[in-house]
Amino acid sequence: MIPVSDINMLFKEVIGHKEIKEKLIRTVKDNRISHAQLFLGPEGSGNLALVLAYAQYISCLDRKENDSCGKCLSCMKYSKLIHPDLHFVFPVTTTKEITKDPVSDDFINEWRMVVTENPYLTLFEWYESIGVENKQGIISVKESNEIIRKLSLKTFESEYKIMVIWMPERMHPPAANKLLKILEEPYRNTVFLLISESTEHFLPTILSRTQILKVPGIDEESLYLALKEKYDHPDEELRKASRLADGNLARAIEYVERSEETKNNFDRFVSLMRLAYSKNMQGIFSWVEEVSAIGREKQKNFLLNGLRLIRGNYLLNMNNRDLVRLSDDEMEFSEKFSTFLNHHNAAEITEELNKACLHIEANAYPRIVFLDLALKLMKQIRKN
Ligand SMILES: [Zn+2]
Repeated sequence: MIPVSDINMLFKEVIGHKEIKEKLIRTVKDNRISHAQLFLGPEGSGNLALVLAYAQYISCLDRKENDSCGKCLSCMKYSKLIHPDLHFVFPVTTTKEITKDPVSDDFINEWRMVVTENPYLTLFEWYESIGVENKQGIISVKESNEIIRKLSLKTFESEYKIMVIWMPERMHPPAANKLLKILEEPYRNTVFLLISESTEHFLPTILSRTQILKVPGIDEESLYLALKEKYDHPDEELRKASRLADGNLARAIEYVERSEETKNNFDRFVSLMRLAYSKNMQGIFSWVEEVSAIGREKQKNFLLNGLRLIRGNYLLNMNNRDLVRLSDDEMEFSEKFSTFLNHHNAAEITEELNKACLHIEANAYPRIVFLDLALKLMKQIRKN
């Protein structure tokens, strides 16, 4: 469902949105493809995936009743997003390599790679993938000139030239004005497909020049089925993630992956406490080995989660149950574990976890940090 390398963005691969797909297919069959269309939908709704499937269908040389063929020369080129009549515009910014006047073409290889891997890309994920997560990308006037230049080219292989503009709300006003002029005098056989999350920063005149297609969030059942295909998790967990995600695939994935990490963190915490209590040095060494290998980000999350568990357990011990926020699994373990936490050791254990966290952030050797932590816990846990 969520392609890994090559993408074959057939309509059937797009999650949910049955009616919108039918509507789009009809415009192609009836030969009334509007020259400027705005796909307006919230993050994670799949509006980019829909546009890719639509563009591929428009260009497909052997269209089927309800989808592209997925096999013709055009579909092959679409699968790598390298069709010569398919153009992309998206927000960019300067980087170490591109220091001046960046335009989309400077990043086209990264774009193709990232989008073929995940057509449900969020703006933040895009910035992250080009290493500029602390900056805001824009679509500049220079980019509008590029658009005009590309439109003046003849179509190479397809009946239509397709210009996909992702996040046009990131256009600089002068760039937006240029785009407006272009939309006012349509170029022959050119289709503009704009993909946006909000019309808030849009020139109203641009809105009035486009046909707006509202893309709602993905329905819960389709989200659930998509998660089920991707993850081998308990059904109940996937149902919950699809319910909480509010139609946003990116968020649903985040829920599932985070819940997996939370579970791992809990298991690691439980075994560390047991090993420390039983003074099992052999076990502690293998535990340290394992945790040293999971990467700094996860190590930090483990420690932060440990802090949360210690706090919860201390509150339990103090009989402040109303303040305790622990899951069922955590609660079951904590009913007993909390009896080992008291005012002799809770503050010290908290401090050790905090210290370990700072050391991990400061790039200390994880093996040393976690071994040190385990040894300190061994001392603290039996204090009462
Ligand atoms: Zn085809």
